[in-house]
Amino acid sequence: MKLTNKYKLPEVLYNAIKEKYYPPSEDRLSVTDLINPPLMRTLKLKEWDNIEHDASNDIWLLLGVSLHSYLEKAGDNAYHEVKIEYPVVSERLGISKQAGLVIVGKIDRLTLDHCIEDYKLVSVNADIDRLSEKWAEQLNLYAELYREVYGKPVLNLAVHLIFKDWQRNRKDYRGYPSLPFKTVYLERWDRRKTKAFLEDRLYDHLINPERECSRQEKWQHDDIWAVMTRGRDRARRLFKSKDAAARYIREKKLERQLQQGKIYVQKRPGECVRCEHYCLVSNVCPYFAKMKRSIDYGKKKRE
Ligand code: SF4
Repeated sequence: MKLTNKYKLPEVLYNAIKEKYYPPSEDRLSVTDLINPPLMRTLKLKEWDNIEHDASNDIWLLLGVSLHSYLEKAGDNAYHEVKIEYPVVSERLGISKQAGLVIVGKIDRLTLDHCIEDYKLVSVNADIDRLSEKWAEQLNLYAELYREVYGKPVLNLAVHLIFKDWQRNRKDYRGYPSLPFKTVYLERWDRRKTKAFLEDRLYDHLINPERECSRQEKWQHDDIWAVMTRGRDRARRLFKSKDAAARYIREKKLERQLQQGKIYVQKRPGECVRCEHYCLVSNVCPYFAKMKRSIDYGKKKRE
């Protein structure tokens, strides 16, 4: 992998970020890999040497690492990480322990009253409800794997959030957190649901390793429908649905112009936020390359 330093970050910072990256292994699957789309892991495995990524994207990641290392140093047994290595066994997929496939994970903290706690740095504007769904998947998997490996139950799941961009002078605004800290308690799934989820994720990774990521997985914005005048670059109007664009044409009595080809309706695929900004393998992803080649992709950003 080529970790670039386009913005000339200090070397020490660059090196610290570089340490976070190491080549993936065919027979090890992290919990994070498992809940992410399979294509991301497949491309990491196949294209590791061709992946290009700039260190400037990872400055926040480094803050997260520092937070965990500080909590670790705080000692007094209040905080300690638990490592999990679970050899995969699956009747549905015909995998036995001998296959050597291992799921690995690291629990931030396990309390004496059987609660898994995770610490995360997030933005005040983060969509906590959407993220909570992903965190619930991650922590429920940890709980199930912990039970499988150590034979002990986990009763509760909590995520402690630290808002990295919290501003004191906004704390009295409606809806703004009054502290740079918040705890979110997540639903603890029953064992049947967790095991079924684990099997489904494994199935997806092992049976469909190269499938295209879904719209939801790409964090794709809604498509836009533009009513265009032929020969002009700018849209007359933008709509959230094809029906709304058709209604506008009817209301403005533009049907004749539409039949004559003087105006037309153009579908513009919504921006894929993950592919654009958050996916490590985007520069080697054939689907993202194809999307970028589409002339209409992301056009709404320019109007
Ligand atoms: S670039 Fe997009 S489509 Fe490709 S692997 Fe990443 S998230 Fe999936």
